[in-house]
Amino acid sequence: MTATRVLVLNSGSSSVKYQLLDMADGSRPAAGIVERIGEPGGAVDHAEALKTVADELAARDLGLDSPELAAVGHRVVHGGTRFTAPTLIDDEVLAAVEELAPLAPLHNPANVTGIRVARDLRPDLPQVAVFDTAFHSTIPEQAYRYAIDRETADAHQVRRYGFHGTSHAYVSRATARLLGRDPAEVNVIVLHLGNGASASAVRGGECVETSMGLTPLEGLVMGTRSGDLDPAVVFHLARVGGMRVAEIDTLLNKRSGLLGLCGDNDMREIARRMAEGDAAAQLAFDVYVHRLRKYVGAYTAVLGRVDAIAFTAGVGENSAAVRAAAMGGLEALGVELDPVRNAVRGSAARVVSAGGSRVVVAVVPTDEELEIAQQTYSLVTGR
Ligand code: ADP
Repeated sequence: MTATRVLVLNSGSSSVKYQLLDMADGSRPAAGIVERIGEPGGAVDHAEALKTVADELAARDLGLDSPELAAVGHRVVHGGTRFTAPTLIDDEVLAAVEELAPLAPLHNPANVTGIRVARDLRPDLPQVAVFDTAFHSTIPEQAYRYAIDRETADAHQVRRYGFHGTSHAYVSRATARLLGRDPAEVNVIVLHLGNGASASAVRGGECVETSMGLTPLEGLVMGTRSGDLDPAVVFHLARVGGMRVAEIDTLLNKRSGLLGLCGDNDMREIARRMAEGDAAAQLAFDVYVHRLRKYVGAYTAVLGRVDAIAFTAGVGENSAAVRAAAMGGLEALGVELDPVRNAVRGSAARVVSAGGSRVVVAVVPTDEELEIAQQTYSLVTGR
């Protein structure tokens, strides 16, 4: 039997998502999530959650011992400067991923556990790490370097890395396909608007700028993260507000963004409240959209010529209101949304700009699992 299936494991900070994909026919025989790790009623830790996943798969004869399984593809959040491509995992690679933990303390240790458990269960099976940072490794130094003392920055690996890379890679290519063009010819701004949110500027298939930085905190307004702010806010809150570093960390990562502005981080709820005339929800929406527009303008200047702007992830794919507000009044940049197309709901990649719009605006559903599976399969089989 030819092994044509890839198990994709995404061990997040408090959940493990999995999908089994068959690369021969495009089917997905299994998918699921184990949530609330470390919380009452949830799995005790990532190792236990991974074992639950393995048991669920085994109960359906799709377990890790299945001869149809070609490899496991692991989403790994931080690849630092070393990992710029999908990588076959061995002891040395695993140790290197572990060493990157200070750069992604919530994620890399969870990813490492996922890899360990899968390797223990099936030591002979190829395991591949697909890094969230990898697609951003082509960003030039003037864009990834922060303007701080170089020695200090280099000593502590402080630079822009960028995240959501798998999604930006997939969506930028899918957008070129939607335009019927080769990715190498197309310049795209990708707006990944989920709970976390990031923008990227992709020139001819290569990422040249992205909004997340050393950590996923920088850039756009997100569900619970502030995105950009004056770094002196941190000193001010410490000195004047008497807050500890850990409290400020929690404030900016967990209690800010849409949640901090209006008490809700779900765009659906915010839309419902706006319809009732709720001023805080309206303000949260306005701050969110204003930031988005600033990035579209900045990335237009970075790219010089923009062929397409692609909206993806939960908010980008589903919120016609966010797309309309972000793209409105940008005719001078060659952007003209078609309100009827924009309002149509759907699950396929689609154009929502007017026929005469110089820049094509598109909704392009992301598929990180498929991208991870393809990269994994291609590395282990050469296909
Ligand atoms: P994650 O970053 O958790 O993977 P998603 O890409 O699934 O996030 O996006 C989650 C967000 O998408 C939710 O918080 C919600 O605000 C938004 N969303 C989902 N469906 C809709 C919708 N129909 N309209 C507006 N926003 C939506």
